Amino acid sequence: MAKATKLKLCSFCGRPQNEVRKMIAGPGNLYICDGCVNICYEVLKRESPEAATSEGAKPEVEAPFKLAKPTEIKAKLDEHVIGQEHAKRVLAVAVYNHYKRLLQERKLKKQKKQPSDEVKIEKSNVLLIGPTGTGKTLLARTLAEELQVPFAIADATTVTEAGYVGEDVENIVLSLVQAANYDIERAECGIIYVDEIDKIGRKTENVSITRDVSGEGVQQALLKILEGATCNIPPKGGRKHPNQEYIRVDTTNILFICGGAFVGLEKMIQERMAKKVLGFNTDASKDEPKAQLASASDKKNANALWETEPEDLRQYGLIPEFIGRLPVVSILNELDKEDLRKVFCEPKNALLKQYAKLLEMEDVKLNLTPDGIDAIVEKAFIMKTGARALRAIIEKVMLEVMYELPKLKNVEEVTINRSVVEEGSRPKIKYRRRDAA
Ligand code: ADP
Repeated sequence: MAKATKLKLCSFCGRPQNEVRKMIAGPGNLYICDGCVNICYEVLKRESPEAATSEGAKPEVEAPFKLAKPTEIKAKLDEHVIGQEHAKRVLAVAVYNHYKRLLQERKLKKQKKQPSDEVKIEKSNVLLIGPTGTGKTLLARTLAEELQVPFAIADATTVTEAGYVGEDVENIVLSLVQAANYDIERAECGIIYVDEIDKIGRKTENVSITRDVSGEGVQQALLKILEGATCNIPPKGGRKHPNQEYIRVDTTNILFICGGAFVGLEKMIQERMAKKVLGFNTDASKDEPKAQLASASDKKNANALWETEPEDLRQYGLIPEFIGRLPVVSILNELDKEDLRKVFCEPKNALLKQYAKLLEMEDVKLNLTPDGIDAIVEKAFIMKTGARALRAIIEKVMLEVMYELPKLKNVEEVTINRSVVEEGSRPKIKYRRRDAA
């Protein structure tokens, strides 16, 4: 008698294998046919369209960026940046809205609808206020990484109004084009971080400005690209001159994140608030929302900067049009010792991990003792340059080790303790026991 072959049936719809295109086997005697897989996918997509997109399904419209949800963006920022909860949330939402808006415009374009038929959502450039070395640039860079968009950093103090010696504002956009490998479509969706934005304030007696070029002209020049303009950029940078070929870049959809330490702003706000109290003009309830936004960790070193109003920025020297183009503002806190310790040890690319990796490449273990880390953190805290100081300190401490190590043989472990950091004593080196010959 011929042996009966067992017919595989889909455990969901019951159809036999010969009636379907593909049958996928599960554990035991379970099977699912291609038709049921498709139905399951459709159900999931209907319930969470964005989840389907972020999990690799083909998006409705192609875009040169990855649209991540605010929670996903924040989670990515958490991997790299310690603290700064409020800034992370503000940036996650601003960036999500920005790229959602771009995606929507692309959808409308695909459907051949005019964006003017819809409610127009304006771009929300961001202003980050906080001391040096607290993570402003790191936040902007990490955002660009998460969204897979080109990223460029510009220094506002190097920009001059046309006609002065210095950089034309278009060179900022050129850096982004270069970061996008001259792919203009990608560059037009990129992120530019403009550092030292506080240093281009109009000269006022409150702020010390060492530049001899009027800050207002520079703000006007920057305003143009912040608002959205078509720039003619010399492909190799430098000053413009006639008879040159230009790359045309529209900055309308480029997200600008501006950052600055705004030294002295806190004092100005304190004075304003003191005046308000003197004038019996206080309205405590008005201040509540801002206080609520700051999370517990932000509040621990809360300062008057949390009360920043557009008027304060104007008094600081920023022109109203410029302030108007930076509608989203967040404050970054100074890093305390606890934060510095975390910055040193915890993020994905923490300095401790980087040095451990460098030594591991020599087959050596790095033993940085807890008191050694304390000493590094204490030194960094005194230097008042935020987390920047950590790198300078660890590089100095590790210099001799990194110099000597490659020539030494059989080193198993290098120990760095407080006295190495504070007094410059030699790190303890432990050698491997030689194999008995
Ligand atoms: P700034 O606020 O002056 O832009 P950066 O973002 O350039 O500071 O930070 C300087 C250095 O310190 C970078 O190497 C960065 O990795 C580190 N750093 C600063 N703040 C943080 C933070 N909150 N979390 C993790 N690393 C930080």
